[in-house]
Amino acid sequence: MFKAIVLEKPGDTVQAAVGELEDNRLPEGDVVVNVDYSTINYKDGLAITGSAPVVRNYPMVPGIDFAGTVESSDHPDYKPGDKVVLNGWGVGERHWGGLSQKAKVKGDWLVFLPSAFSTEQAMAIGTAGYTAMLCVLAIEKNGVTPDKGPVIVTGANGGVGSVAISILSKLGYEVHASTGRASEAEFLKSLGAAEIIDRDTLSGPAKPLGKELWAGGVDAVGSHTLANVLSQTKYGGAVAACGLAQGMDLPSSVAPFILRGVTLAGVDSVMAAKSVRTEAWNRLASDLDIAKLENLTTKVGLAEAIGVASDILKGKVRGRVVVDVNA
Ligand code: NDP
Repeated sequence: MFKAIVLEKPGDTVQAAVGELEDNRLPEGDVVVNVDYSTINYKDGLAITGSAPVVRNYPMVPGIDFAGTVESSDHPDYKPGDKVVLNGWGVGERHWGGLSQKAKVKGDWLVFLPSAFSTEQAMAIGTAGYTAMLCVLAIEKNGVTPDKGPVIVTGANGGVGSVAISILSKLGYEVHASTGRASEAEFLKSLGAAEIIDRDTLSGPAKPLGKELWAGGVDAVGSHTLANVLSQTKYGGAVAACGLAQGMDLPSSVAPFILRGVTLAGVDSVMAAKSVRTEAWNRLASDLDIAKLENLTTKVGLAEAIGVASDILKGKVRGRVVVDVNA
């Protein structure tokens, strides 16, 4: 038997509760993992509350990521005792996920846990932090280096934003953090933000071109915010877009692209190739200050995680929430 959060949808609403399940109910897969930690990401908030059609079939065990130890494996690359991490691949959406003491998945979806991290630290990073790293890699690949000027991070207090600030500041960038929570300015500065920007200055309709302020950016917010970031990106700059906290629309114009050569780099963590994931996790091991992770992480048990799912959608969560599935 193992414990897990189980989502059911008997009518129009999703019900979430911690349940006990028999091992023979685990889904198809060639590796069984004893999960140590999972997390609550924005998408988990949508899944657990039923606020968006993230979950494709019920009953579902949510949790788009986990870190743990291989219990048994029919996959040639993994053996019992290996420490592994999983992000995405539809886990917690179409395939039972990580908010569970046990998970059974395809070995091809797993990444070896970098030796720099414990399983708890890996989930303090989680999918939000791994996505932040993918965003940093995207702007680097498009030529945004610290000497080109400041970079902006939107949704600064969130999971993606807070980890992006930590990585970028450690890499030597001057980071401007856009937030709706001015009260958290000291927290953002402790992560490495040099300047705090009120998100209201970016949340209204954007001009086709604004003053050139940033060499690049990491955007977790979308909508008008991304449009404003693009219109205020310097000539030749690049912005990585990964999120939609303000909205899925992009009310922009082609002006930043055709008049300033700005690049908009899309970032998807769910289906990213294994080589890309491995690069991101290896770079996290070298470019993220592990000590800062503790400042941005809160730990909860499985039952509490259900409440955190609502909080993250209300923008009440600061940094990252790690779920100890055995607590
Ligand atoms: P969080 O909820 O932790 O962070 C989102 C942050 O955005 C909030 O903390 C808040 O920051 C800001 N925000 C919230 N609402 C609004 C609003 N209406 N207008 C402007 N800013 C707002 O989520 P995550 O960091 O986990 O994820 C961020 C986004 O990235 C989500 O949309 C998520 O779905 C997406 N994502 C995408 C991935 C991919 O593969 N492309 C992978 C992971 C996440 P503050 O209080 O500082 O303003």
